[in-house]
Amino acid sequence: MDNYICPCGYIYSEELGSPSRGIAPGTKFSDIPYDWRCPVCGLSKEYFGSRNSIINALNIPETY
Ligand SMILES: [Zn+2]
Repeated sequence: MDNYICPCGYIYSEELGSPSRGIAPGTKFSDIPYDWRCPVCGLSKEYFGSRNSIINALNIPETY
């Protein structure tokens, strides 16, 4: 399970999904419909970055 981060700071967790937006817990980010939008700012999923890319950008060791 991975997390994906919107530029606005919202984090989509594959583990939690987004039930209020019709995305069941455990839904992989790649399986989310293309018309899904960030519930906070409304950006489409193509703007989201993977958790790993954020970690690399911030140079934080991936140990937590
Ligand atoms: Zn957003």
